[in-house]
Amino acid sequence: MASFPPSTPLHLFLFFSISISISILPISESQQLQGVCGLEWDPALCSTSGKILIKGGTVVNAHHKEVADVYIQDGVIASVRPNIIVSDDVTILDATGKYVMPGGIDPHTHLAMEFMGTETIDDFFSGQAAALAGGTTMHIDFVIPVNGNLSAGFDLYMNKAKNSVMDYGFHMAVTKWDETVSEDMQIMVNEKGINSFKFFMAYKGSFMINDELLLQALERCKKLGALPMVHAENGDAVAEGQRKMIELGITGPKGHPLSRPPLLEGEATARAIRLARFVNTPLYVVHVMSIDATEEIAKAKMSGQKVIGEPVVSGLVLNDSWLWNPEFATAAQYVMSPPIRKSGHDKSLQAALSSGILQLVGTDHCTFTKTQKALGIDDFRKIPNGVNGIEERMHLVWDLLVESGRISVMDYVRITSTECARIFNIYPRKGAIMEGSDADLIILNPNASFKISAASHHSRCDTNVYEGMTGMGKVEVTISGGRIVWDGELKVKPGSGKYIKMPPFGYLFEGIEKADLALLSSLHSPSRIGRSAA
Ligand SMILES: [Zn+2]
Ligand SMILES: [Zn+2]
Repeated sequence: MASFPPSTPLHLFLFFSISISISILPISESQQLQGVCGLEWDPALCSTSGKILIKGGTVVNAHHKEVADVYIQDGVIASVRPNIIVSDDVTILDATGKYVMPGGIDPHTHLAMEFMGTETIDDFFSGQAAALAGGTTMHIDFVIPVNGNLSAGFDLYMNKAKNSVMDYGFHMAVTKWDETVSEDMQIMVNEKGINSFKFFMAYKGSFMINDELLLQALERCKKLGALPMVHAENGDAVAEGQRKMIELGITGPKGHPLSRPPLLEGEATARAIRLARFVNTPLYVVHVMSIDATEEIAKAKMSGQKVIGEPVVSGLVLNDSWLWNPEFATAAQYVMSPPIRKSGHDKSLQAALSSGILQLVGTDHCTFTKTQKALGIDDFRKIPNGVNGIEERMHLVWDLLVESGRISVMDYVRITSTECARIFNIYPRKGAIMEGSDADLIILNPNASFKISAASHHSRCDTNVYEGMTGMGKVEVTISGGRIVWDGELKVKPGSGKYIKMPPFGYLFEGIEKADLALLSSLHSPSRIGRSAA
């Protein structure tokens, strides 16, 4: 955890305007796309000014659904209404009996991240290709600072993402805290388009910050109008739990969940929530994995506090039985933090997501191959943490919650796309099918089925934690930036994805100032500071 190797070479794709079938690409280190440059060359598909008419589908937004046509031109949605008549040069897609929905936005991914002595096998190219094949058209990744330096981290990640095939944004992880970091946060917010910062209450000795520093960080975020996010586990207790497991001779993957039980997640979640309340700032809890953490978020909401909880697909559909598999390679696939919990936590997370206690769903997509996972063969603490999900999220959530009748189609759009766009202040450019919105959308056939397998997925990972799962509801077409990028085959164009700047002071910040003033005036303080504000 503590040691980070020098950067491994990134795959650079220095060509443009190509259309390729990703599924035939080798996974190997020597992947060089020059070899397939020009394959399936089709300028029409690569043009951003393509005109598309989606006819007769049920157009779904978070607030409304109707049968209508959607006309797309120049990368944006030009019109949404019934019976649109177009000229011959328009590509027509028949969506009768299908749902036309905003493309998914994944609020939590890690592509091309150096972590635990290695680097995730999915970079921005393969990770985004997988996303598009699964109906996700934007993701928000985490910039990891370089030796704590935010600006250097930002530049590094902009470079990693420069050949993106879909739109992306960034959160900034804060891995140490001092005055320089505090000042750099302002540059990130005002100049670089970042409006959220993630702080770690776990990973003692590397990323973790203590309560004193977390308080300062929360104050700073509030002032900048940036949303503080927390990885909520008690890092001191996790370190102690790990020491105990090793002492007991438990060195295999099951030592991972045993060393960091749900109560440590519940404790840190409660602490972060109370500190955010003390500071009077909104808070976003990433990867909520347990009943313990969910209950703290529910309690806070009942008291009127602005807390967002983000479950991830692995927590919703998996349980920890895999981690007890005697086969190291199998069990190690499922190691992530906070850990995948015992059966029962998954059901509670599903219920909380369906009822709005948890508001949106991410993946924490962070993939390592069998060989990379084997770094921890003798010690679970060294197994690179992370699972896949960027390609599977839209399908699994549909099957789990919509196909089963637990949420409406509109709520599906809300939790997979719209709510993320609102929280990170890019709605309705993203997360909506409205005139003027970006033409990022999907056509989902509720009567077709999907099957998940490492043999057919688009990630470079050689395993899939959802291997063999099947369900109803298939994304048949993905349109990104006004181009058809998936219709059973990928047609992606490196460099076509745009960096989406996210402005500060999203809707969660509305009213914060009034609450502060109300508190101040209730104090009858002799000092007049703060009272003159309008
Ligand atoms: Zn985390
Ligand atoms: Zn993460």
